[in-house]
Amino acid sequence: MNDGSIFAPDFKEMPYWIDAARGPNAPPPSGPASLPAKVDVAIVGAGLTGCAAAHELAKGGRDTLVLDANEPTEGASSRNAGMLGWHSKHYFTELCEKVGVDEATRFFRELRGIYDITVKRIHDEKIDCDFRRNGRFLGALTPKHYARMRREYEARARILGEEIDFIPYSQQVEMGSKRYHGGVVVRDNASIQPAKHVRGMRRRAENAGAKIVGQTRVTAIRRESDGFEVHTARGVVKARDVMIATNGYTTALTPWLVDRLVPINAYMVATEPMSENLTGSILPNHRMYADNRRRSNYMQLSPDRKRLLFGGQVGQRPVSLRDIGRRLQRDMTMLFPELEGVKLSYAWTGRCAATWDYYPRVGVHEGMHYALGYCFSGNAMGPYLGIKAARRILGAADADTFFNRTPFPYAPRYARSERLMEILMSYYTWADRPVAPAA
Ligand SMILES: Cc1cc2nc3c(=O)[nH]c(=O)nc-3n(C[C@H](O)[C@H](O)[C@H](O)COP(=O)(O)OP(=O)(O)OC[C@H]3O[C@@H](n4cnc5c(N)ncnc54)[C@H](O)[C@@H]3O)c2cc1C
Repeated sequence: MNDGSIFAPDFKEMPYWIDAARGPNAPPPSGPASLPAKVDVAIVGAGLTGCAAAHELAKGGRDTLVLDANEPTEGASSRNAGMLGWHSKHYFTELCEKVGVDEATRFFRELRGIYDITVKRIHDEKIDCDFRRNGRFLGALTPKHYARMRREYEARARILGEEIDFIPYSQQVEMGSKRYHGGVVVRDNASIQPAKHVRGMRRRAENAGAKIVGQTRVTAIRRESDGFEVHTARGVVKARDVMIATNGYTTALTPWLVDRLVPINAYMVATEPMSENLTGSILPNHRMYADNRRRSNYMQLSPDRKRLLFGGQVGQRPVSLRDIGRRLQRDMTMLFPELEGVKLSYAWTGRCAATWDYYPRVGVHEGMHYALGYCFSGNAMGPYLGIKAARRILGAADADTFFNRTPFPYAPRYARSERLMEILMSYYTWADRPVAPAA
């Protein structure tokens, strides 16, 4: 298949979300603003984590500056799949065996609380982000995966009280694909337009008095007797406190964190607009969709229901986005053969970060605060842990959380190698390959 056949004439190598949030007459991004000489708190990274922390600090009376190497908000927070829930890389059933039911329940209850807080903030503060509480269908691509899914979600329904619909193969009408051996619907899950969500979070931080400056990479942080010197290519800022909110974009600026995070590339495409018949036939219930393979595909329709937004190829080393587009198109037509011939309008990539024990972290190292390692669940977790870090800087009583646990384990060097990550992910693709259901 040649390029001409799968890429629309207006194909763009950028997130659909950012383009859609900007609108057709948006002004170009503004240039970098001037830097103050001194602030109370400097935050590195203007995504969901940095913006949420900045709002909390500014509200608490701290003179707060957020610096971003690129356009503020346009890291993973604008590039993700838009799923809002209480996902974890941990299976509840496995965690119960490993750490006991009480500890596993405490972890999942905090996750659930984080989702509720996020939904409440979006509603109460009218954050315009196409929020829809539309549930999430998790499909199984092999009989083994379905059996595992049933065990997991039966336990979650029984012990955690989650509202789950079990959909066996014979009743699978959630997706117009014959590939799934059944699945579950997690009813109380939602979707958001991520670029609009993080812009809303930026706006509220700025309204509270925080200053957010883009195109300003932090190149060094030096500890002084009375705080820190934050070095950038555009000058030095003195700060009493520093917070790191760089998640998947963490660099040698903070080597201690680099040694503890597994950075992961993730990819998405958006199709050209399709007919209502076609979108309605593939994803009739307009939910969020994913599967439980270790390297899964995830998808939803755009808020206007015209395009399919489809992700996968996680852990693939950066190749050209057209090449990624071809791979994702293959994955897409494996699930929905009727999409053969539908062209791609957008392809993009973003960086996530996992921790070695799959627990996100908030904490302090050598006087520097951090919140990161969200393992693909940063839409709710990023703001939550950003606020926890801010509360600690403010000396507030409620800074405690399951996620300030220690130790923060070292991630072996091989786990941080893009080459080995790609090999591991290719192995997962093979080991979890779909099994066609019996006709
Ligand atoms: C394709 C994809 C799909 C995903 N799907 C979901 C999903 O459906 N649901 C969900 O909950 N999560 C999802 N995630 C994860 C989620 O997007 C992230 O966990 C979350 O956005 C992290 O927010 P953040 O603010 O911590 O980091 P980011 O938004 O990535 O921001 C970090 C910022 O730090 C800046 N930075 C780095 N170094 C420096 C420096 N030296 N100086 C200045 N600035 C610096 C970067 O420029 C960047 O803007 C997905 C991620 C990807 C990529």
